[in-house]
Amino acid sequence: MRHKYLNLKKENKELFNELVFNKHIFKEEKQLSEKLFYFSFGEFGCESIIPTFLIPRINNNFKEYRKIVVGWQGREYFYRDVCDEFWEIDNEFMSLKDRSHAFENHSTEIASLEKRLSNLGIVINGNKMGNLCLTCRCAACSHEFPRDRGDVYCPKCNSVKIIKSLIQGCKDYKNNIYPLPQINQKYIDFADELIPEKSVALFARNRKTYGRNLPKYFYNDVINLLTDFGYKVVLLGEVSSSYNIDNDKIINLMNHKYVGNLEAAFAVVKKCDFSLQFYTASTRISSLLNKPFVLVESPEQMFGRGQEGFRLSLMTKKYSDKKLVVSNFVDVVDNFSEFLTMLKDAVIDFIVNKNSEDVFFRPNDMLLAQSQKYKENIW
Ligand SMILES: [Zn+2]
Repeated sequence: MRHKYLNLKKENKELFNELVFNKHIFKEEKQLSEKLFYFSFGEFGCESIIPTFLIPRINNNFKEYRKIVVGWQGREYFYRDVCDEFWEIDNEFMSLKDRSHAFENHSTEIASLEKRLSNLGIVINGNKMGNLCLTCRCAACSHEFPRDRGDVYCPKCNSVKIIKSLIQGCKDYKNNIYPLPQINQKYIDFADELIPEKSVALFARNRKTYGRNLPKYFYNDVINLLTDFGYKVVLLGEVSSSYNIDNDKIINLMNHKYVGNLEAAFAVVKKCDFSLQFYTASTRISSLLNKPFVLVESPEQMFGRGQEGFRLSLMTKKYSDKKLVVSNFVDVVDNFSEFLTMLKDAVIDFIVNKNSEDVFFRPNDMLLAQSQKYKENIW
């Protein structure tokens, strides 16, 4: 079913005149009920928290409402069990992903859509969902207030009996994750047929915003490294934010009709021994499947102001399921061959020797101290 919504005024050439959605109806509407719209137009790493923690929590407060998630193409799998309808934006508008920042989307088109749907029901937008990750509640007086880390007391009644925010309490909350649906047999069969034993899923970030994209030739070196080690490399990702790499050693899902289909990606990662990614949150797929993964990420994202460290912990049950290679993007770019040698050692140590301790490229004392504190606090 294709439905057209929203006629935008063409203020400049980059704006879309209209947005088109494919509607997935999970439950037929029985009677006229009030509507609740969830907006899920953020980055993937944040989005993964929406069906697993945020929507189940918010749904409890809106039992009588008809719940509708409005979001990206290919994400139906995430929302099948937590809402009544999923409105999937058409592929031609996926370039709006370039305007994603954490849970939010800064495009005029999504802002207009929100305005429009606000007339039809309550809209829970990305900003509200982002804030909810940081909201604590006082057990004594029920006052809610934002706090992400550190010691907490209620600003209203000074009580120290505080129900932690999602981010702050990630260690505990991870054990109560709302489960994703079973993967459809059609995709399991697809993965069984396509993916041989001893495969590794590779994600090659190519975001238009924020940079931090490694050059394509770097990925060819990584593919050689894994192939020499006896692995079949499976390239995954979304067209709007990942490289398509022309390399005849790999199984390339970037050319497959299931590209960008999240449920197919889950089935493929499930079949692989582990996944490998650089500066991207595709780790969530492995995390949610309890599969091992190797992540190259910057210290700022893991231990600094970026909340990726908290989010990663929230979504990853076992510390030993992951290998973190902590490295600044510029250090990698400036020292490719040195970095590759280190990466190879780290992958072998993780997969063969099951050593999940973090490794650091160009470490310093401050970084090592930060990482120790991080480990104690949130794992
Ligand atoms: Zn209080």
